Amino acid sequence: MKIIETVRDAHAYVARSRSRRVLVPTMGALHRGHLELIRIAREAAGADGEVAVSIFVNPLQFEPGADYERYPRPQNVDEELCAEAGVDLLFRPFPNEMYSDDRSVAVVESSLAKVLEGESRPGHFDGVCTVVTKLFHLLAPHAAVFGEKDFQQLAIIRRMVRDLNFAIDIIAAPTVREPDGLACSSRNQYLSDDERRQAPILRAALIEAAQSGERSAEALVRHVRERIEAAPAARIDYVALVDSETLEPRDAVEPKSLLALAVFFGKTRLIDNIILP
Ligand code: AMP
Repeated sequence: MKIIETVRDAHAYVARSRSRRVLVPTMGALHRGHLELIRIAREAAGADGEVAVSIFVNPLQFEPGADYERYPRPQNVDEELCAEAGVDLLFRPFPNEMYSDDRSVAVVESSLAKVLEGESRPGHFDGVCTVVTKLFHLLAPHAAVFGEKDFQQLAIIRRMVRDLNFAIDIIAAPTVREPDGLACSSRNQYLSDDERRQAPILRAALIEAAQSGERSAEALVRHVRERIEAAPAARIDYVALVDSETLEPRDAVEPKSLLALAVFFGKTRLIDNIILP
């Protein structure tokens, strides 16, 4: 596995390479969700192609006061996991490689990024779009894999690729979960034992709502809220029914409706979602 830590080396590598490359952008602290993205990337790259993983804790996508400093950075374990998973290229830039102190250009998506996560985390998706654009330029992938756990991010990246004409296929990967239904996340390790025991309620509430047969947004959202409010450690940020492509609010279930939520357990903010039948 080739490891690259500077922009200069990335440019040199890409200039020499002729392979079909599939990129998996991450912030590290790799878990089974990331490994599934890597597996999907391998399938998409084919035997002769290459799988590139980027690990970069992107300061731009953390709001002030969020967990940027304490975000886990298990560099050696991540490197081993990538090597074991058959990754060909690990791009792990030093933080000062990616941003100049006087940087003044960003990529902003101005519609889908306004709602849900964007409302709770101002500037978050500007940081995501900017870093993903940089990674696309630096590593010149033919395709890139993103997880459906971050459904809004996936929708925004698709919009960005469409509107800015990136010749890159965006591949969606289904959410990988713990046996009790909690979506795998690097942030799960912040949860206390008690919070961890309560957190699977998010998935349970979404499934129950989906199976309840309710069609109105109001009833679905109420159902999910009531279930989650029964968990003493949970504090709901939002529960919403939206269109899964435009992320516009829906009054009732229509084809491709998405029920999405964000909930705090203590200081840890977890997200999950379900596409309704
Ligand atoms: P992160 O390192 O959290 O920024 O995530 C990197 C990529 O992995 C993103 O495309 C996420 O959507 C995806 N991802 C994170 N957790 C999961 C999961 N449990 N299942 C599937 N994909 C995931």
